[in-house]
Amino acid sequence: MIVNWRWIKWAKNSFAALYAACEKNGIILHETDFPEMDITLYSLNSVDAPRYIDEIRDAECITIAGGPHPSALPLEMADAADYVVVGEGEYVLPKLLKTIMSGSNVLPPGVATKSEFRPNNTCVLLDSYPPFTQVKSFTEISRGCPFRCGYCQTPRLFGGCMRHRSVDEIVKASKAFKDVRFLTPNALAYGSSGKEFIPEKLERLISSFSEEQNVYLGTFPSEVRPEFIDTEAIELIEKYCSNKKIHFGAQSGSDRVLRLLNRGHTCEDVINAVELCHDGGFVPVVDYIVGIPFETEEDQMETVEQMKWVSRYGKIHAHHFTPLAGTPLAGTSPSPLIPEVNALLGKLSLSGKATGHWHDAESRFFGKQ
Ligand code: SF4
Repeated sequence: MIVNWRWIKWAKNSFAALYAACEKNGIILHETDFPEMDITLYSLNSVDAPRYIDEIRDAECITIAGGPHPSALPLEMADAADYVVVGEGEYVLPKLLKTIMSGSNVLPPGVATKSEFRPNNTCVLLDSYPPFTQVKSFTEISRGCPFRCGYCQTPRLFGGCMRHRSVDEIVKASKAFKDVRFLTPNALAYGSSGKEFIPEKLERLISSFSEEQNVYLGTFPSEVRPEFIDTEAIELIEKYCSNKKIHFGAQSGSDRVLRLLNRGHTCEDVINAVELCHDGGFVPVVDYIVGIPFETEEDQMETVEQMKWVSRYGKIHAHHFTPLAGTPLAGTSPSPLIPEVNALLGKLSLSGKATGHWHDAESRFFGKQ
């Protein structure tokens, strides 16, 4: 049977990881722009899922959906797709494909259909699979997150305990790259449970590459949390890495909103992180979410003031709040933006100090396909 992967730009990292997992099991995935015989696979987030639902429902081939959105709403997705892989796919997807190919109707746990679903622990030991083989992506070094920010699907999909790929496997996977970029929810938590910065573990990782390679850490797609940034972290990045920017999330300039979001850090942590980056010779790039549901006008003004201050030393990366399935904020609506938010971000973007998609959520995902 031919197994196809429906190309969706935002699912590229999933394609790379699952291509490698299927290849290890003797199954090759073929990239496609539409559903094709015999089987077509989809990885969907909550913003792009509505765009593909009809295509999946109308497909004449067998369809399998997975990713953050189907994992959060498996029974709803099973209305359209023949099978839904719930959770991480490396173990479950190849097993499901082999089941279908064999004609068996005994599904592996972790797969939902219209008529059955047996949940399963799908957490993958990262060293069991390479992060990619033929289909290249960033080198995933960690999965899972112990923080539970109210808008984020990561801990819901990957679990609350951070797992790490070993240094040897990371170096092996990255050896073909001159520029080595990592994929992780928080690069400074490498080697820990996710709640702490262990300098020796991070140094062992970032000092293990050849002199010909440029290592990037703390910048897209290995952003960090603000309270993890300290002098030692800055010194390690400066010593071993090539990036001149450090990217981290503030999300709001209101401590009240940070508490309600369960962010686990304060505005003071953000200010300290900006100062430490600036003093260490790095440009801080700071993420904000605008239109958070329970924000008041006063909260938004605090965010505006903080963004103004941050922009003196670094850059703002702003995006509009999107309610994601399976999170505590699923089903909520964004709060309207006060004029000062758009005015400031518009002005900063003209001088190259702000990037992102703060007008609406969809442009973030569909602006540059
Ligand atoms: S936003 Fe970052 S820190 Fe918060 S839960 Fe998601 S991955 Fe973890």
